[in-house]
Amino acid sequence: MFENLSERLSGVFDRLTKQGALSEEDVKTALREVRVALLEADVSLPVARDFVKKVQDQATGQAVTKSVTPGQQVVKIVHDALVDTLTGEEDPGKLKIDNPPAPILMVGLQGGGKTTTTGKLAKRLKEREGKKVLMASLDIYRPAAMEQLAVLGQQIGVDTLPIVPGQKPVDIAKRAKQQAAMGGYDVYMLDTAGRLHIDETLMQEVEDVRNVVSPRETLLVVDGLTGQVAVEVAEEFDAKIGISGVVLTRMDGDGRGGAALSMRAVTGKPIRFVGLGEKMDALETFEPDRIAGRILGMGDIVSLVEKAQETIEAEQAEKMMKRFQKGRFNMNDLKMQLEQMIKMGGMEGIMGMMPGMGKMAKQMEGAGIDDKILKQQIALIQSMTKMERANPQILQASRKKRIAKGAGMDVADLNKLLKMQRQMGDMMKKMGKMGKGGMLKQAMK
Ligand code: GDP
Repeated sequence: MFENLSERLSGVFDRLTKQGALSEEDVKTALREVRVALLEADVSLPVARDFVKKVQDQATGQAVTKSVTPGQQVVKIVHDALVDTLTGEEDPGKLKIDNPPAPILMVGLQGGGKTTTTGKLAKRLKEREGKKVLMASLDIYRPAAMEQLAVLGQQIGVDTLPIVPGQKPVDIAKRAKQQAAMGGYDVYMLDTAGRLHIDETLMQEVEDVRNVVSPRETLLVVDGLTGQVAVEVAEEFDAKIGISGVVLTRMDGDGRGGAALSMRAVTGKPIRFVGLGEKMDALETFEPDRIAGRILGMGDIVSLVEKAQETIEAEQAEKMMKRFQKGRFNMNDLKMQLEQMIKMGGMEGIMGMMPGMGKMAKQMEGAGIDDKILKQQIALIQSMTKMERANPQILQASRKKRIAKGAGMDVADLNKLLKMQRQMGDMMKKMGKMGKGGMLKQAMK
């Protein structure tokens, strides 16, 4: 999968990583090639353009991490931007099926892999989540398709709705709903009929079925090898039926990976699963990180840069520790702490990591300290001059007024912040005095 794109990008980055220092012009040239590589992988033009711009913005002006080359750092930025572009749902594999019997509507063009995917997904729900699943084929135009689902059902040990010749799709859907309720099924999956092209009759039929069962999930199954066509199909189905996610099939083939990148950006719909073969096990949850790694084919560099960044953070923490031990804790330190807190999942997150800090966290919670407030406090600090940040004790009434106004807040808010800085300073001093094995050190590990 993605071999072409991966190979192309590798070429671009090979040249980058060999250079010692990287100029803005180098980044630009490299990104121009990235853009061509993306277009050749059938990523749509606006998506490729946005993507390259995102990388360019981030690459320009980013501090270069020690111990990696600028080129390696660009690889990491491209990787993160890929993950960002690919990310849709936090947990794409989690289907909304808690209220039994939950209907799942499978839609798509003929030959896209709809019936196969219905089977794969049923098997997954049965084996991984212990769900009792019923599958029904609504493809009255191709009796072979109904047969195919029944055979798959037998193979994976999942029930299928008995075939009644001559019934209309809507009536089959109603029967499936009834059967699912009576038979105590957790989920029933409706494998709708596909056509070679989107047509009105087909859409109307799927819409009627949708109205009868109100599906919890409507999954569009599309062939990942068809690139932009897959994205167009998704747009049309979403406009007419409304889809909750996409399954990209044939991602085992060595074709272009463009569909994956464009899908989320163009349709706003998340990719939930990828099909990786004809076998019933060949279905994976869509993982942006893994796909980005495959597209880039440069996982080693990405983890190298991550490690280097971690080292830098550890070094910073060490430096801060030394300052705290000497009883120094000014607004710059507080700002860093506040930023760190946001990064670590807010107040609760950071306090939860420090032994004995539960009480303090409660107090701060009582004082209304949450992420929004953390951000407001950072804004207050940003409104101070360099000298004020380093020596907050010099803040008198007029300075306070100016700072509060600059951050769009009240002097009372600033006073609270100052109190917090003093309290935290005292706390840090105490913790710092506990020495190398102290709490702060523990917490910063
Ligand atoms: P439908 O018409 O949309 O129901 O498509 P089918 O489920 O009948 O699939 C059409 C063909 O594609 C079958 O031969 C499947 O085995 C094959 N197929 C489906 N999904 C995948 C996949 O992820 N990878 C590969 N290599 N083949 C697949």
